[in-house]
Amino acid sequence: MNRRHFIRQGSLLGASLIASTSLPLLSGCAPAANLRPGPSRRYAAPDISFTGGACRLPPVQVSPEREIRTVVGLRPYRPSGFVVRAERLGDSLVVHNYGHGGSGITLSWGTSKLAVDIGAPGHRGAVAVVGSGAVGLANARLLQEAGFDVTIYTKALPPETTSNIAGGQWFPAFLSDPEKRTEAFNQQLLAAAAYAYRRYQIMVGPRFGVGWMRNYYLSHHDFNENGYAGEQSPLRAMMPEYRKLAAGEHPFPGYEFVRQFDTMIIEPPVYLAAMLDEFRLGGGRLVVREVPDRAAIQALPEKLVFNCTGLGAKALFDDAELTPVKGQLTILLPQPEIQYAVIPGDTYMFPRSDGIVLGGTHEEGAWSLEPDLQRKQQILAEHKSFFDSFRSC
Ligand SMILES: Cc1cc2nc3c(=O)[nH]c(=O)nc-3n(C[C@H](O)[C@H](O)[C@H](O)COP(=O)(O)OP(=O)(O)OC[C@H]3O[C@@H](n4cnc5c(N)ncnc54)[C@H](O)[C@@H]3O)c2cc1C
Repeated sequence: MNRRHFIRQGSLLGASLIASTSLPLLSGCAPAANLRPGPSRRYAAPDISFTGGACRLPPVQVSPEREIRTVVGLRPYRPSGFVVRAERLGDSLVVHNYGHGGSGITLSWGTSKLAVDIGAPGHRGAVAVVGSGAVGLANARLLQEAGFDVTIYTKALPPETTSNIAGGQWFPAFLSDPEKRTEAFNQQLLAAAAYAYRRYQIMVGPRFGVGWMRNYYLSHHDFNENGYAGEQSPLRAMMPEYRKLAAGEHPFPGYEFVRQFDTMIIEPPVYLAAMLDEFRLGGGRLVVREVPDRAAIQALPEKLVFNCTGLGAKALFDDAELTPVKGQLTILLPQPEIQYAVIPGDTYMFPRSDGIVLGGTHEEGAWSLEPDLQRKQQILAEHKSFFDSFRSC
């Protein structure tokens, strides 16, 4: 499984769901590149253009000496996609909200909105959320905003969650297998993405660590136009500044097919800490303990329970389809002048204030949290060769 697989083969949604967009394909007539971010520029929409022969993207400085950490996380992956549905357990109603694969930061607010809309209408009394990753925290905040008293029961708090490991790009990736998705799932995905996209926009800024970022998707093969990064992507209206860049319009040698668009980056260490603060400020209660089985859920005093346990749902609800996809990231020293993300096929680079994030690996079925040092060397070498090759155009 790799990123290219998802971009090229994956029609994100059915053709019937293809969204129209009011965003024009602008020809390059913006002012020359401004690549001097001050503290306030970090969160603003990027100001980068390649006009008049000015391909002035600063390269990432890749070397082993610049590494500050390498981390591993297990994506909660289900080939048929995330689960948002209700299940009755005795006198308790459980609403599931898990299985987001590589898109849990991206979709957390959106699937939580769907889950709350399923469970909350008509409910009286306190509510429980199990899990405090990106999904559990968004779910809990939406319940508080709807007026409920909320208790989160969780085995581990941030920073000890998978959500803290994520790169944090706002874009669905490694979400599911295109061949396993149903039309009903596609509808849920589109609704979740649309809600989450708007929700994160009102969180842009240093408090939540959310900012805008230019993305370059590179390929040696033509894009699947109905896929994630394609021109007919059902998420196209959520991809401002979308352009196809011709060979002379970008600094990436050897790549015939290049797409640009802007999206958000959500910095998990900042964002999750702020979300925990918001939950507490909203009167939320945190109980740090494992909820081991269905009986323990039924024993909770709250009779409406949201299951946001990520990969934990495999054991908790015997979900045979749920499987880990191990991902490893190497973080280099921060480079504030880097305002763009680049995704050259299977690898990717996202810039964050706490460092330059280099990915990525995708090992389906692997449960180990040990970094693979050989793979790390390969990723460093691949990125070094890529950034050393930047050209003028
Ligand atoms: C390397 C890597 C890069 C990624 N990059 C991105 C990205 O750029 N963009 C993006 O959108 N996504 C990304 N992801 C995916 C993202 O991290 C996950 O989809 C997301 O973290 C899932 O969130 P979650 O809240 O469901 O799970 P988690 O963060 O795992 O939270 C689950 C919570 O449930 C608790 N829990 C589990 N079982 C129990 C139990 N039995 N009782 C009580 N509590 C329990 C846990 O302690 C935890 O608090 C990436 C993932 C990895 C590994």
